[in-house]
Amino acid sequence: MKLQMMGNWKIVNDEHTSNDLKLYGSGEYDEIDSPIRLFVAGLHGNEWRDTSEFLLNMTPPKNGTLAVIPIVDNGEYVSTLDNRYYTTVGSRIIDAVESLHPDTYVELHSYSRNNLSKLTNEDRINKTGVPAYIELEDGVLLGSVPSYIRLKCFPMDALCLSFEIQKDSLRSKYFAAKMLDIVKNCVSRDDFVKYLENRFPLQAKMAIGNYNRFYGL
Ligand SMILES: [Zn+2]
Repeated sequence: MKLQMMGNWKIVNDEHTSNDLKLYGSGEYDEIDSPIRLFVAGLHGNEWRDTSEFLLNMTPPKNGTLAVIPIVDNGEYVSTLDNRYYTTVGSRIIDAVESLHPDTYVELHSYSRNNLSKLTNEDRINKTGVPAYIELEDGVLLGSVPSYIRLKCFPMDALCLSFEIQKDSLRSKYFAAKMLDIVKNCVSRDDFVKYLENRFPLQAKMAIGNYNRFYGL
């Protein structure tokens, strides 16, 4: 990876794509206690159309570092629940995680309105092995990241989130942008949990329940 200084942000050029990994903020990503976040969008198919713009227009976090990959892959749609995803089209994510060791990892996905009930149905755990998404507001859904990357790349205390943004909904986009700003400035998983408990107590309870079940707590 080639690291390039650009004012208060850096570009890490991984050379095989024009959609470089970008680092915003202090760039002090080797320092202990300086949180590092990695946000990724456009993970598959045409989802970049509804998700990448967020990461192209981020401002630096108040502390620590924010790394973004605006488009991971815009080719064929491979589900992130397919374990091959992260070793093939999504391998850039693993590369970035292994070099940055982020404390916070966020995936941005998009969905069609008519798939809402499929994503939020409690039965999802039985059908796909992953918990149902939790609706926060304006069609923005909160979920965990697939167990493959969660277990392979992150310690238990890392904050790993997946947001589903409703396609063709401006309200959903506005709210998602607000959430990303909040997550970007959280310094730890507990910091985000505190925010969620204050602002969305019911959803926080569900998310914590899912987390505990995942780790058998
Ligand atoms: Zn997706």
